[in-house]
Amino acid sequence: MTIKRIKFTAGLKLPENKITEHMPVVRLDLPSKVVLPLQQHFGQQCNLLVKKGDTVRTGQIIADSDSFISAPIHSTITGVVSSVFKMINPLANSIVDAAEITASEEEDVQYLPVNQVFEEIKKDLEGFKDNNEAEKYLADKIKEIISRINGLDNEEIISIVKNAGIVGLGGATFPTHVKLRPPKDKQIDSLIINGCECEPYITADHRIMLEYGMQMLIGAYIFYKVLNPGKVYIAIEDNKEDAILNIDSLIAKSGLSKSFCVVSLKSKYPMGAEKTLIKNVLKRKVPVGGLPLDVGVVVNNVGTCKAACDAVLRGQPLIEKIISVTGAVSNPGNFIVRIGTPVSEILKCCGGFKSEIREIILGGPMMGNDINEENFPVTKAVSCILIKRGLPRNEGHCIRCGRCVDICPMNLMPLNYVNFVKNSKFDMCREYHISSCIECGSCAYVCPSAIPIVAYIKTGKSILTGK
Ligand code: SF4
Ligand code: SF4
Repeated sequence: MTIKRIKFTAGLKLPENKITEHMPVVRLDLPSKVVLPLQQHFGQQCNLLVKKGDTVRTGQIIADSDSFISAPIHSTITGVVSSVFKMINPLANSIVDAAEITASEEEDVQYLPVNQVFEEIKKDLEGFKDNNEAEKYLADKIKEIISRINGLDNEEIISIVKNAGIVGLGGATFPTHVKLRPPKDKQIDSLIINGCECEPYITADHRIMLEYGMQMLIGAYIFYKVLNPGKVYIAIEDNKEDAILNIDSLIAKSGLSKSFCVVSLKSKYPMGAEKTLIKNVLKRKVPVGGLPLDVGVVVNNVGTCKAACDAVLRGQPLIEKIISVTGAVSNPGNFIVRIGTPVSEILKCCGGFKSEIREIILGGPMMGNDINEENFPVTKAVSCILIKRGLPRNEGHCIRCGRCVDICPMNLMPLNYVNFVKNSKFDMCREYHISSCIECGSCAYVCPSAIPIVAYIKTGKSILTGK
């Protein structure tokens, strides 16, 4: 056993509402069109490389940037560029360029799936009658893949990850190739793979660890090979015991137990936030304004690992995502969808709404963003479409109860930001370290006056950074 169990006394115990946790991932039909914002990542927006009327293939790069902190955008279907326009990106609170692609009848893929290795293994495993033989076959296959990865050059791997447009799929969307090139003066000794999924409702990462555990582990190994840290911690909350056992068993089979272990963490919000995670797994504190690499750590999400595996072993760029569609929807579930699919098309596949009055949230109830436009697409940042019954409560006055201060995992004073932003005192926001806010939403959750504190914080941050 490589499982290390860690308690976490702070944080919020939220109602989990993980109604889709036992629902296997289903691939949705190809959409009739996709909308691809040219900024789906942290960093520089990409420049469009195609024009209206051009024919594009699935997996073709349609937008890219020379900037180091950026990630290319691929066409996620085969079709024709039907429109180029500007749109509001509710996830980043900004205006971005976007391209719409209308599907043609036949799918034509740009990338070559060089090896359907995982499908073959799955099929072979179904043919075994003896469990021990199946386990041995699986262990041999994983070792074979690992030895193939060991034969690759690190620069080649980084270039594949970059060209595949891979970004942090837990929501932060930081370009993964940048994380694979830490500055020379930063020694990385630990890699944390984030499988916490601490937000209520969302179950996409949980299903990845159960159904695509091998790809996830291979992806983690790819990062391990490039970064060469001493230790890899796969961090999973203890409400996903089946995922903990599956990943632990795969580590044992792969012969990686010396450097890889599963860390079982108490299910508390916001355990999956990068800084909280590092504090709990390694007892290290990321300095104010600092990054995980300042304390020798790189954190990657489980979905990002799977995407790296798909890119390195199969040549597949980031054109699809596993997401949960949940809440007040007729047929909730976990689905593989093409990036750029409009929310309206996905909701139609899920049987539509169960409530007349509702909010559509991209992401979970704590950190997600409300959208009032059903044609907004699923981007690289989206891991959930949540339909909440009813409308948000009206904002009241601050009664200075201090609950937001008590709950803040970053030891900030959230009520002050509301006041500063309302009175345009943005310098005070800076003085009170608004940039340290991880936008976890805990303060707004506990506020008895229903003040949308995070919305004020986001406004304060965007005015200070000019974005
Ligand atoms: S101030 Fe930021 S970090 Fe603190 S509870 Fe609110 S959202 Fe979370
Ligand atoms: S929780 Fe709400 S009402 Fe209480 S101090 Fe914070 S902002 Fe004010």
